[in-house]
Amino acid sequence: PELPAARVRSIFLDFFREKHGHLLVPSSLVRPRGDPSLLFVNAGMNQFKPIFLGRADPRSAMASYRRVVNSQKCVRAGGKHNDLEDVGQDVYHHTFFEMLGNWSFGDYFKEEACSMAWSLLTEHYGIPADRLYVSYFAGDAESGLLADEETRDIWLDIGVPPGRLLPFGLKENFWEMGDTGPCGPCTEIHYDHVGGRDASKLVNVNSPDVVEIWNLVFMQYNREVDNSLRLLPQFSVDTGMGLERLVSVLQRMRSNYDTDLFTPLLHAIHQRSRVGPYRGRTGAADHGKVDMAYRVVADHVRTLSVCIADGVYPGMSGAELVLRRILRRSVRFCVEVLQAPQGTLATLVPVVVDILGDVYPELHREADVIVDIINENEAQFLSSLQQGTRLIQRALNKMECKHEVFPASVAWSLHRDLGFPLDLVDLMLEERGVHVDQQELDQLMAEHQKLASDEQTGAISQLMLDVVSLAELQRLGVPHTDDGLKYQYTLD
Ligand code: ATP
Ligand code: MG
Ligand code: MG
Ligand code: MG
Repeated sequence: PELPAARVRSIFLDFFREKHGHLLVPSSLVRPRGDPSLLFVNAGMNQFKPIFLGRADPRSAMASYRRVVNSQKCVRAGGKHNDLEDVGQDVYHHTFFEMLGNWSFGDYFKEEACSMAWSLLTEHYGIPADRLYVSYFAGDAESGLLADEETRDIWLDIGVPPGRLLPFGLKENFWEMGDTGPCGPCTEIHYDHVGGRDASKLVNVNSPDVVEIWNLVFMQYNREVDNSLRLLPQFSVDTGMGLERLVSVLQRMRSNYDTDLFTPLLHAIHQRSRVGPYRGRTGAADHGKVDMAYRVVADHVRTLSVCIADGVYPGMSGAELVLRRILRRSVRFCVEVLQAPQGTLATLVPVVVDILGDVYPELHREADVIVDIINENEAQFLSSLQQGTRLIQRALNKMECKHEVFPASVAWSLHRDLGFPLDLVDLMLEERGVHVDQQELDQLMAEHQKLASDEQTGAISQLMLDVVSLAELQRLGVPHTDDGLKYQYTLD
């Protein structure tokens, strides 16, 4: 492409470093250091949390940071920012992505942050201003937070037409790192991939064609454990822009997957699969499932590579458990939809290393380990899948006729003993034209839950190993909150 992703990344870093005196700080590992409130690093600001809170060790280099720029490896597959369910469904949420960011710690504030962002996007990257929308915080009466009119006025001064400035509430324009931690009102820049629309008719910026690219957060508070907001010792700026989304804009692609960050992966997947090539958003309707599989596998193998390189291996709890689910999900898509042979996933690792290894050299260093871990876990999972298939077949052979319901005890054992998510069990039975005795299954689950809550043994965490969705948690009646992964803390 005219402007490769590597250039897009370096233009960003150089703009803030050379033109605006920011210090370039390397990406931290995706495993958060000493922050139990996080499963994975989910934003560029995580490693700077002590500065926001005024708790940076005065002897550390961090204590002297005023203006900083970086490109951070982020994973959003658990905790408050969990995009796992969207990945593959849309073309701009990934489990792993790179966040470009600039920070001011008690140095510049709203005016300079907005004008630098605008100048970078429209002058340096050359994005037409009439494709951009800007949102700002509309205030929230209930929490006593005022509308951020200051920011609205700054954008008006910069020249953003009033019709392209949109006020939104807490959910959209008040950024929070997690259940606790630094937070504040934000202003977000969105790009319209289509253009030519009547801005006044745009009531919601979250359409697939209008994609959020950059978030500028004005850190002013800390969300405390008791949910109150405490004013921070100094006001800071924290921005984050998804590299993949920016690259799609600059390479004039509607989808992140059609950029040079992903196309080599999609090609490699195609070479190993027995299905047609990836067709993206222009594909025929019946190609949807295959396309989604391409996206999921391309996304997940990046995440697996980056996480394993940073020492997060697939395992039984916390971030490790999330990674195990990501691995199993990719294996299923490879085998079941893409009809690719065992070992496919690991053969994609060198492609990831090719794309990202120059910026994140740990990928080069750890490439062999990544390949081994992926292969081991894949083999293990495929063997339990096979065992499960045999179990189902045996039970089917015993059944008199196909109209009979499938024994719940077998379905339950697939789940409990082989760690199959229940929706996978349903799917496998559906493919064979039978269904499970739901009432009996519910009863088995209820008994199991009672047992588990009586004993609080490892049994229930085993049960949870492969829970894939919030829906399933609800079905199981397991206490959980909306962020979907919180139950782990109570069970681990
Ligand atoms: P969205 O509303 O699209 O989910 P967000 O508001 O959750 O994004 P922020 O927390 O504001 O995202 O993060 C800053 C930027 O990081 C976003 O503007 C976007 O460009 C990028 N980003 C966020 N989540 C993802 C993701 N899952 N994959 C790729 N890029 C992302
Ligand atoms: Mg989000
Ligand atoms: Mg958003
Ligand atoms: Mg945002």
